[in-house]
Amino acid sequence: RFFCEEPVTGDSALLSGAEAHHLLHVMRAKAGDAITLFDGSGAEFDAEVATASRSSVEARVLARREVDRERPRPLVLAVALPKGDRQKVLVEKLTELGVSRLIPLVTERTVAKLSGGALDKLRRGVIEASKQCGRNVLMTIDEPMSFADAIGAAPENANRLVAHPGEAEADAGPDAAELWRLVGPEGGFTDAEVAAAEAAGWSRASLGRAILRTETAAIALAAREP
Ligand code: SAM
Repeated sequence: RFFCEEPVTGDSALLSGAEAHHLLHVMRAKAGDAITLFDGSGAEFDAEVATASRSSVEARVLARREVDRERPRPLVLAVALPKGDRQKVLVEKLTELGVSRLIPLVTERTVAKLSGGALDKLRRGVIEASKQCGRNVLMTIDEPMSFADAIGAAPENANRLVAHPGEAEADAGPDAAELWRLVGPEGGFTDAEVAAAEAAGWSRASLGRAILRTETAAIALAAREP
């Protein structure tokens, strides 16, 4: 599976950059080899390598298929991102678990900083994970968002949960059209943040008695939703 940056609309598609490198120098593809393409639109395409240069590949598109591997309702996670490699693991697992949108959350106790370059790398991680797991729609990653903006960004009719240790499990909200989840940083949410979320209509949710790392809590939240 290879990702096309440009929407695939006609009977040919161009792969360049990391995708062409993967195809040419890792898979050692040659003219006539069968490949599958996706462009993030939800469809996937049967194709074959038409011509290959040193840094790009032109593919001949043979058939388009609508293949829905998305969740029945959008799942949005706003997460105070952990540091270093754990961000990469988080993005890979949330992509595999079908999260629609990841919002890097800036809270009072958030430590990890996210530069533009880091965000690009995380978005590249979404493509890599989508190639592997078969998703045809990319999980989006927002620019970092403040806690106040994040709690206000969710529609009021969404099922909205703040993961916070020690509280009873909240109802998963079977009728809600969207699911929104907040996960705090290493130092946790402050009492004032939890109170602000509750005042805005969010409920607290517990993931058990153990204190989980941020990425484990985010993955656990994503994995338990149907
Ligand atoms: N000492 C912090 C506290 O008590 O909040 C621990 C923070 S934990 C390392 C990071 C985040 O993961 C928390 O802010 C929360 O969102 C989530 N989390 C971790 N364990 C959890 C649990 N058992 N139940 C619900 N959320 C949890």
